[in-house]
Amino acid sequence: MTVRATTIKDAETGEAAIRCPACGSDVSYRYGKTAAGKARRICLMCQRQFTIDNAWPTRPQRPLCPACGQPMHVYRRQPGLTRYRCRNYPRCKSYVKVEE
Ligand SMILES: [Zn+2]
Ligand SMILES: [Zn+2]
Repeated sequence: MTVRATTIKDAETGEAAIRCPACGSDVSYRYGKTAAGKARRICLMCQRQFTIDNAWPTRPQRPLCPACGQPMHVYRRQPGLTRYRCRNYPRCKSYVKVEE
């Protein structure tokens, strides 16, 4: 019996910059739909469910990891300060703090 590899990638295509409205993390994935038919997402950092409509406005500039050059994820937001974590975490444990 032949088993075809399923496409793992398509879930996140083109939606990398959606942010959780609760914690500002941009690490989320699709989590079904709301009753109104909108795409629902769930935040990996705080487990909050949200839709794209109430996500944080996206910011284009994200720092690149100083160790491996990959774009970084927002890890935590504080007033005046955003911490980023390398997308290769836990393989790469680089952090960057950006003052606003
Ligand atoms: Zn969150
Ligand atoms: Zn890195």
